[in-house]
Amino acid sequence: MMINLVIFIYGIIFGSFYNVVGLRVPEKKSIVTPRSACSSCGHQLTPIELIPVISYFIQKGKCRGCGSRISPIYPTFELLTGILFAAAPYFTGWSGELVVALTLISLFMIITVSDIHYMIIPDKILIWFAGFFLLERIIWPLDPWWNSLLGALTGFLLLLVIAIISKGGMGFGDVKLYALIGFVLGFKLVLLSFFLSTLFGAVIGGLAMLLKIVKRQQPIPFGPFIAAGTLVAYFYGNELINLYLQILS
Ligand SMILES: [Zn+2]
Repeated sequence: MMINLVIFIYGIIFGSFYNVVGLRVPEKKSIVTPRSACSSCGHQLTPIELIPVISYFIQKGKCRGCGSRISPIYPTFELLTGILFAAAPYFTGWSGELVVALTLISLFMIITVSDIHYMIIPDKILIWFAGFFLLERIIWPLDPWWNSLLGALTGFLLLLVIAIISKGGMGFGDVKLYALIGFVLGFKLVLLSFFLSTLFGAVIGGLAMLLKIVKRQQPIPFGPFIAAGTLVAYFYGNELINLYLQILS
């Protein structure tokens, strides 16, 4: 239990960092300097104000410089990263696969920020994570090992076809991302990931249009749905497929 709490706290700290990465990398800014600042008055955050989640509550959600409201998205995002980090060992056990799971969560947190803010999945991020995943799948391979290659090819081709058919509705960033997802998850689960992402996108996107949160022609970033669909496929995939087969038979 203690160890889960430690992972949770690490998740919150990393979440805070991933938010900075997701916001700065697409703008080609350094992820180390300068320190984060208030977007309204430019007040640079002091060490106390940089403490994830807690500082938000200490400051009652307001900037110390100008008193303008800080979006609750930030602490929510940090908490969510912490929760996902802490939940991961329940699915993977204390094995090498836990490292893969945490890497996957990290990739998706960064991508979600970039895609929501800029509608971009930065190449730089994908290349970095491709390096990590390659190394991890050499150390902790899928069974059989070539399932990674088959998955990567499947993810790439499937999204490439859709990108071509949709004429830009699906960006090329998504194609590259799905090659990476396929490499980590393998053939079967990458297909499930795509099915779930599309389902989540259709349901939530449709709901957002119905409630007039977004306009019909407004493009919706697909990254967060890919993140949700893939994590569900990765953590629950085999149970879902077994359940489906049971219903069929
Ligand atoms: Zn301010």
